[in-house]
Amino acid sequence: MSDCIFCKIVAGEIPSETVYEDDAVLAFLTIKPKADTHILVIPKQHIVNFADVQEHEWPLLQKVLQSVQHIARQEKLEGYRLITNNGELGGQEVFHMHWHILAGKNLPSF
Ligand code: 5GP
Ligand code: ZN
Repeated sequence: MSDCIFCKIVAGEIPSETVYEDDAVLAFLTIKPKADTHILVIPKQHIVNFADVQEHEWPLLQKVLQSVQHIARQEKLEGYRLITNNGELGGQEVFHMHWHILAGKNLPSF
Protein backbone atom coordinates (compact mmCIF):
# COMPACT_ATOMS: atom_id res chain seq x y z
CA MET A 1 0.00 0.00 0.00
CA SER A 2 1.53 3.28 -1.10
CA ASP A 3 0.60 5.33 1.99
CA CYS A 4 1.51 2.66 4.56
CA ILE A 5 4.53 3.43 6.78
CA PHE A 6 5.42 -0.23 7.23
CA CYS A 7 5.18 -0.99 3.49
CA LYS A 8 7.62 1.91 3.04
CA ILE A 9 9.95 0.34 5.61
CA VAL A 10 9.72 -2.99 3.72
CA ALA A 11 10.53 -1.15 0.48
CA GLY A 12 13.52 0.58 2.13
CA GLU A 13 11.94 4.01 1.61
CA ILE A 14 11.94 4.69 5.37
CA PRO A 15 15.01 3.58 7.33
CA SER A 16 14.65 1.17 10.23
CA GLU A 17 16.89 -0.98 12.41
CA THR A 18 16.43 -4.52 11.15
CA VAL A 19 16.51 -7.30 13.71
CA TYR A 20 15.49 -10.17 11.40
CA GLU A 21 14.50 -10.60 7.77
CA ASP A 22 13.51 -13.41 5.43
CA ASP A 23 11.50 -13.64 2.22
CA ALA A 24 8.16 -13.07 3.96
CA VAL A 25 8.90 -11.38 7.28
CA LEU A 26 10.69 -8.29 8.57
CA ALA A 27 11.43 -7.39 12.19
CA PHE A 28 12.76 -4.02 13.28
CA LEU A 29 13.01 -1.78 16.33
CA THR A 30 10.13 0.56 17.09
CA ILE A 31 10.86 4.28 17.15
CA LYS A 32 9.07 4.60 20.51
CA PRO A 33 10.18 1.71 22.71
CA LYS A 34 7.88 0.88 25.63
CA ALA A 35 10.28 -1.68 27.12
CA ASP A 36 14.05 -2.40 27.25
CA THR A 37 13.53 -4.57 24.17
CA HIS A 38 10.71 -3.60 21.82
CA ILE A 39 10.71 -5.25 18.41
CA LEU A 40 8.00 -5.13 15.74
CA VAL A 41 7.48 -8.19 13.54
CA ILE A 42 5.53 -7.77 10.30
CA PRO A 43 4.65 -9.71 7.17
CA LYS A 44 6.24 -8.00 4.16
CA GLN A 45 2.88 -8.33 2.45
CA HIS A 46 0.32 -5.73 3.56
CA ILE A 47 -2.28 -7.21 5.90
CA VAL A 48 -4.35 -4.75 7.96
CA ASN A 49 -4.35 -6.64 11.24
CA PHE A 50 -4.83 -10.04 12.87
CA ALA A 51 -8.60 -9.57 12.87
CA ASP A 52 -8.51 -9.16 9.08
CA VAL A 53 -6.41 -12.25 8.27
CA GLN A 54 -8.07 -14.11 5.37
CA GLU A 55 -8.24 -17.86 4.96
CA HIS A 56 -5.43 -17.97 2.38
CA GLU A 57 -3.20 -15.80 4.60
CA TRP A 58 -2.99 -18.20 7.57
CA PRO A 59 0.25 -19.78 6.25
CA LEU A 60 1.79 -16.29 6.25
CA LEU A 61 0.64 -15.71 9.82
CA GLN A 62 2.33 -18.97 10.76
CA LYS A 63 5.58 -17.68 9.24
CA VAL A 64 5.27 -14.43 11.21
CA LEU A 65 4.77 -16.31 14.48
CA GLN A 66 7.58 -18.75 13.73
CA SER A 67 9.78 -15.70 13.18
CA VAL A 68 8.74 -14.33 16.58
CA GLN A 69 9.98 -17.53 18.21
CA HIS A 70 13.19 -17.41 16.15
CA ILE A 71 13.83 -13.76 17.04
CA ALA A 72 13.23 -14.35 20.75
CA ARG A 73 15.85 -17.11 20.67
CA GLN A 74 18.21 -15.04 18.51
CA GLU A 75 17.96 -12.12 20.94
CA LYS A 76 18.27 -14.52 23.90
CA LEU A 77 15.10 -13.21 25.53
CA GLU A 78 14.42 -15.12 28.70
CA GLY A 79 10.83 -13.97 28.81
CA TYR A 80 8.75 -11.71 26.63
CA ARG A 81 5.30 -10.41 25.92
CA LEU A 82 3.67 -10.71 22.48
CA ILE A 83 0.98 -8.19 21.58
CA THR A 84 -0.92 -7.36 18.42
CA ASN A 85 -3.35 -4.44 18.55
CA ASN A 86 -6.49 -4.71 16.44
CA GLY A 87 -8.37 -1.63 15.28
CA GLU A 88 -8.45 1.86 16.76
CA LEU A 89 -10.28 0.68 19.87
CA GLY A 90 -7.60 -1.98 20.29
CA GLY A 91 -4.91 0.70 20.26
CA GLN A 92 -3.72 0.08 16.70
CA GLU A 93 -2.04 3.13 15.15
CA VAL A 94 -0.32 1.59 12.13
CA PHE A 95 -2.72 -0.43 10.00
CA HIS A 96 -0.23 -2.99 8.71
CA MET A 97 -0.30 -6.07 10.95
CA HIS A 98 2.54 -6.15 13.44
CA TRP A 99 3.39 -8.14 16.53
CA HIS A 100 5.12 -6.32 19.38
CA ILE A 101 7.80 -8.30 21.19
CA LEU A 102 8.34 -6.65 24.57
CA ALA A 103 11.00 -7.76 27.01
CA GLY A 104 13.07 -6.50 29.89
CA LYS A 105 12.57 -5.56 33.47
CA ASN A 106 9.37 -4.05 34.82
CA LEU A 107 6.84 -4.94 32.15
CA PRO A 108 3.54 -3.68 33.55
CA SER A 109 1.20 -6.42 34.71
CA PHE A 110 -2.36 -6.57 33.41
P1 5GP B 1 0.42 0.09 17.18
O1 5GP B 1 0.00 1.18 18.13
O2 5GP B 1 -0.16 0.30 15.80
O3 5GP B 1 0.17 -1.29 17.70
O4 5GP B 1 1.99 0.19 17.08
C1 5GP B 1 2.65 0.97 16.12
C2 5GP B 1 4.12 0.84 16.39
O5 5GP B 1 4.82 1.34 15.28
C3 5GP B 1 4.58 1.64 17.61
O6 5GP B 1 5.51 0.87 18.36
C4 5GP B 1 5.28 2.84 16.96
O7 5GP B 1 6.29 3.41 17.76
C5 5GP B 1 5.86 2.20 15.72
N1 5GP B 1 6.17 3.10 14.62
C6 5GP B 1 5.35 4.05 14.08
N2 5GP B 1 5.97 4.67 13.05
C7 5GP B 1 7.20 4.09 12.94
C8 5GP B 1 8.31 4.30 12.07
O8 5GP B 1 8.30 5.15 11.16
N3 5GP B 1 9.41 3.52 12.27
C9 5GP B 1 9.47 2.57 13.25
N4 5GP B 1 10.61 1.86 13.35
N5 5GP B 1 8.43 2.35 14.10
C10 5GP B 1 7.33 3.09 13.94
ZN1 ZN C 1 1.56 -1.89 4.65
